[in-house]
Amino acid sequence: MSVEKSIHRREFLVTTAGVLASTVTSACRAATAEEIEQAAAKVGKLPRRKLGNTGRDVTVLVGAGTWNSDGIEAAIRCGVNYWHKADEWGGRVPPAILKNREAHYCQVCVDRAYGNHETGRIDEEAHYQFVKKALAKTGLRYFDDMQFHFGFHNAAEVKNEHGFLRAFERLKKEGLVRHLCLSQHHYGGNSRVESGQNAAEILTAVIDDGVFEHAQFWYSYGETDPMQQWVNMARRKGFGTIAMKTMRGAGRMKADREFMKNLPSGTTPHHALARWLTTATELDAAVVEINNLDQFVDTFSGAGKPLRTMDSRGIEQMAAYANREVCRLCNECASHCPQGISVADILRYERYAQDYGEGLRARVLYAMLDRQGDSCIACGDCLPHCPQELDIPRKLAESHRLLVTRG
Ligand code: SF4
Ligand code: SF4
Repeated sequence: MSVEKSIHRREFLVTTAGVLASTVTSACRAATAEEIEQAAAKVGKLPRRKLGNTGRDVTVLVGAGTWNSDGIEAAIRCGVNYWHKADEWGGRVPPAILKNREAHYCQVCVDRAYGNHETGRIDEEAHYQFVKKALAKTGLRYFDDMQFHFGFHNAAEVKNEHGFLRAFERLKKEGLVRHLCLSQHHYGGNSRVESGQNAAEILTAVIDDGVFEHAQFWYSYGETDPMQQWVNMARRKGFGTIAMKTMRGAGRMKADREFMKNLPSGTTPHHALARWLTTATELDAAVVEINNLDQFVDTFSGAGKPLRTMDSRGIEQMAAYANREVCRLCNECASHCPQGISVADILRYERYAQDYGEGLRARVLYAMLDRQGDSCIACGDCLPHCPQELDIPRKLAESHRLLVTRG
């Protein structure tokens, strides 16, 4: 990377990182209390389901601390009771949750320490202190779930690295956390992660280890083995499952007039997705990114309702579209790239921009990569390994144009 480019990226990070959190929730006009009530009434109370053998029932679609505040308020009224990334609220925890704390399961997401998801390490003291600080900031008094964010690099780490568990046990003794969970990414073939493995292998080791109670992982329509098989096994063994990164291209489909013209009438990508996730899979629950009140109603009104013919056909069309255009983040290409490009990371950030309406977050994350899409030399070595036969060099070039800040 040139010095000039490096400086541009650093400047970009400094100027954008500070405003990122507030921008995520304040992009649109805040809805009135009446509009929120009306949205909640359209959705109604959400059904709940057991979260594995954790002894808890959670709504089939859970909420997230990163959502737009209108969506959060409406979700509370609809009985949503599990909050992913509750620590992201900082000092802005919704008063309704603070007032009725025991009715909500709030999760703290704890990253690796002293680096990012690839380079950071497991460190008992750093994880312990992170949770203490998050509690002080949020005023939540305790977190129901302490989540190891980004997860383990391989099955050996599950077996041998117990620093996260020790931090959890210390906090649990103090009454500050209650359940242990993780979100697991893929690391197979990642040149920056020694002996990295993919999520299904690592999560199988996690279940065998018997310490964690539930997990989040990437899962959406068109999913294939081995994640499909792992989800079925988790259900059989009573290990809790919450799908994330579920909107595989749904946002861009909605903006594609030709696609929407051919979608069966009476459904939408988000609505069909919600029905599919909550009734046609073996998942316990799922999280869907919500940017505004309309999207909340569109999505959550499908939660727990069976697929109609129009939704099933819609899901088929969505899967076909996604298979052509949207990376499933499987990481199968990673070990074959001579340039060491994190193709799945880049195409994950493309999703944030294209499907979640989170262009700023996507550009901040993209700017932090040591090798961006323009490092691709179009050698084609990765192509035979992509299960979707994506034109990876084209996708990287398009993503670079979309996400690059300068230069
Ligand atoms: S085509 Fe690009 S992404 Fe694929 S292996 Fe070659 S350099 Fe890497
Ligand atoms: S580009 Fe293809 S192989 Fe690479 S992560 Fe995406 S879907 Fe998997």
